[in-house]
Amino acid sequence: MRLWGRATALRRGMICLWLLLLGFALATLTLSDLFNRDRSLQKPGPPRRPLHQIPGPAELEVIVDSRDPALELGVDAAPLKSLQEDQLLFVPSTQGTKSPPQKKGNYKVLLPGVNKETTVSGPTAHGEMGKAVQLHLKGLEKDMELTAVQKYGFNEVVSERISLHRKLPETRHPECFGEQYSESLPSASVVICFHDEAWSTLLRTVHSVLDTAPGQHLREVLLVDDLSQYGHLKTVLSEYVSHLDGVRLIRSTRRLGIGGCRTLGAARAVGEVLVFMDSHCECQKGWLEPLLERVAQDRTRVVSPIMDVIDWKTFQYNATQWPVRGVFDWRLDFYWESNPQVQEKDPEVAVRPIRSPALGGGVVAIDRHFFQSVGAYDPGMLLWGAEQIELSIRVWSCGGSMEVVPCSRVAHLSRHHLPFRFPDQDLLQKNKIRVADIWMDAYRKIFYRRDTLAHFIRQSENPNIAERLRLKRNLGCRNFHWFLTTVYPELYIPQDRPALSGELYNVGTGRCADFHLGQGLQGAGMRVAPCSGTGSQHCDLNSEGEVRWGSRGALCLDTKGEMVVLSPCPLHRPTISRLQWKFIKLSGQLVHQQSQLCLEAVKEGGLLQSSPREIYSSTGGLFLRQCTHHPRQQWHFEQLVAPKSA
Ligand code: UDP
Ligand code: MN
Repeated sequence: MRLWGRATALRRGMICLWLLLLGFALATLTLSDLFNRDRSLQKPGPPRRPLHQIPGPAELEVIVDSRDPALELGVDAAPLKSLQEDQLLFVPSTQGTKSPPQKKGNYKVLLPGVNKETTVSGPTAHGEMGKAVQLHLKGLEKDMELTAVQKYGFNEVVSERISLHRKLPETRHPECFGEQYSESLPSASVVICFHDEAWSTLLRTVHSVLDTAPGQHLREVLLVDDLSQYGHLKTVLSEYVSHLDGVRLIRSTRRLGIGGCRTLGAARAVGEVLVFMDSHCECQKGWLEPLLERVAQDRTRVVSPIMDVIDWKTFQYNATQWPVRGVFDWRLDFYWESNPQVQEKDPEVAVRPIRSPALGGGVVAIDRHFFQSVGAYDPGMLLWGAEQIELSIRVWSCGGSMEVVPCSRVAHLSRHHLPFRFPDQDLLQKNKIRVADIWMDAYRKIFYRRDTLAHFIRQSENPNIAERLRLKRNLGCRNFHWFLTTVYPELYIPQDRPALSGELYNVGTGRCADFHLGQGLQGAGMRVAPCSGTGSQHCDLNSEGEVRWGSRGALCLDTKGEMVVLSPCPLHRPTISRLQWKFIKLSGQLVHQQSQLCLEAVKEGGLLQSSPREIYSSTGGLFLRQCTHHPRQQWHFEQLVAPKSA
């Protein structure tokens, strides 16, 4: 009995031990599952389509020593022979269909699309989870989204959930469907430079090109890695790309920046037309043919699709309204201008390309030989910024043209912020200084007055622009006056007269006239704010009597009752009398000509003397008042950059 009892106890003990072990094993499994889920959570949703694996010639990842002198392109640079193949490092493909590898790669094939299908539990797994766990995970997801936005400048968590093959809704004008394109269009190399791009956005860009560009026109997709640091862009990407037909990967050994990276890609590209594309784009059906057609008709024509917008938060696709063209302002900032004054009633307008003073960097198509002969991208430009403006002025001035082609649409991901940390804080200004000094002749003064940081940098260092000035001379490029009058006549040319331009400083408040675009333009009041000293508050009282405001000089100091507001300046002369002001130097008064009242600054919280509309007084602002000699009616134009010194 006792023996039996002991045996039972022993068995019970064993069972307990087993149960314990089993419990431990289960707990480990669940935990590891949860950890794995951390990654898989970024990729729920339907499994992605497997890669299309078409047997083809070996696509090799190539690591390029980008210090090659051929990349410092002058016009006469020898055509691309100098990238020494024996210096290149080939990373072998692991696919049997490819040419035999020189060295067997021993890394694991991790194809994210496949990976996801085999290892990630589907959405049903979510359903089986307890509510508390789901809530907890929701919280984790929010955290992950925040981290992703910080890391990339957009919500990469949402992007991961969207198919790499998502189809965009049709937004082309119906007139576009009737368009006929030549049978023998030139071939295209799509050059995609990237630096620390997110996996999903980069690969969606690549697949989107492969899914939409007709095989007979697409010569290759050339991915150029501008020395990315993120792990997912290393072996994993090489492997993934080695399975894609027609996609090549080049890696630079040096951080080149957008221009340098694109020049490197161009040097390795074989297609007749280069299509530079950002690493976070999605193409609309039929986007490539209209671009190639326009370039084929005139090889000096540089073209862009309509750039639609992908929202950085939701990844929603938003179609851009036609007509739209690219422009820049006197601070040398680029933007797309919708509804330019080129609108016509003609139905043809829906399909007819429009000339564009500049094109954005998102997608640009350019004939490969023309690109090289016009001087590629300026190798003196630093990592990021203003390279699209430099290319635009150069193309126009040196014999080419630019246009937006409406039947071609590509969406670009608009970032919330730039995720790169630049080693040089003044990098954008330095790039703009090159544009100003190489291309703008005496008009550069207008830029320096509106970007005083650039002015001060320029005073302490001389940019090395001799090579580019030589290029400009050799190509017989036109001057900036020609550009302004012929290509971009809509850009107002400020007069910037001494003592009648600069920050509008108010003696009584010690502040400067200011305007916040965020409040929307219509009827928004001017106000006073601490003087910025950057040139952002620059204005210009011209000989017409208009006080021109903003970096395009397209806004005028206007009145709405007794409020002083900004409104778009009239396009034609003479100006309207409501917009005319006179500055009396002796008293510092700025007199509104129509009403003969004076401009007065009311400080935040200050009370208006006579106004029944005290609502405005609580926020401070600029108002029309009976002229007195009160310091709040005394102004002067603070000349941050003297007209002669720029
Ligand atoms: N890029 C690059 N090297 C850099 C900075 C940017 O190759 O040093 C790439 C980037 O990944 C993107 C393209 O150049 O594909 C344009 O940059 P970005 O999208 O940041 O410019 P934005 O569209 O914001 O003007
Ligand atoms: Mn971009």
